[in-house]
Amino acid sequence: MTEHTFSILKPDATRRNLTGAVNAVIEAAGLRIVAQKRIHMTSAQAGKFYEVHSERPFFGELVEFMTSGPVVVQVLEGENAVARYREVMGATNPANADEGTIRKLFAESVGENTVHGSDSQENAALEIAQFFSGLEIVG
Ligand code: GDP
Repeated sequence: MTEHTFSILKPDATRRNLTGAVNAVIEAAGLRIVAQKRIHMTSAQAGKFYEVHSERPFFGELVEFMTSGPVVVQVLEGENAVARYREVMGATNPANADEGTIRKLFAESVGENTVHGSDSQENAALEIAQFFSGLEIVG
C-alpha cells in the first residue's frame, strides 16, 4: 500500500553536510521525497514535536539538540513507507543499527542519530500536518 511518512534530517546531518548522502540512501531504498524544506526549529516546535518524551530524562537535551542547527523536514512516499523508512533508518542507537542503515552509516550517538521517522501511520499524519500544508506535498 502506498503511504506517506514524515522524516527529519537532524542537525548533525546538516552540520556535517550529509543531507545529500542521506537522501541518496532514502531514494535507493525506493522511497520518494515528495516534500522537503530546510528549517531551523524553535524550542516550542521541537518541544511540541517530541511531547511524548517530555517526561524522559533526555528531553531537555533532545530539544536543545534539535534546535542547535537547521534540519530538513520531509514527506516520503512509498509502499509501506512508515515501516520501510524505519528499516532504512536503523535502530535508535547506532551501535545497535544494522549494516547499511542510515544510522549505522552516519549517526554519531543515540542522541545525535541523524534522522527521525514516524513510528505509525497515525503519527505520520500528525507530524506531516505539523510542518507541511497539503499544497507542499507533490507526489
Ligand atoms: P526513534 O523513534 O528511533 O527516533 O527513537 P525514540 O522515539 O525512542 O526517541 C526519540 C529520539 O530521542 C531519538 O531519535 C534520539 O534522538 C533521542 N533519544 C532517545 N534516547 C536517548 C537517550 O538515551 N539520550 C539522548 N540524549 N537522546 C535520546
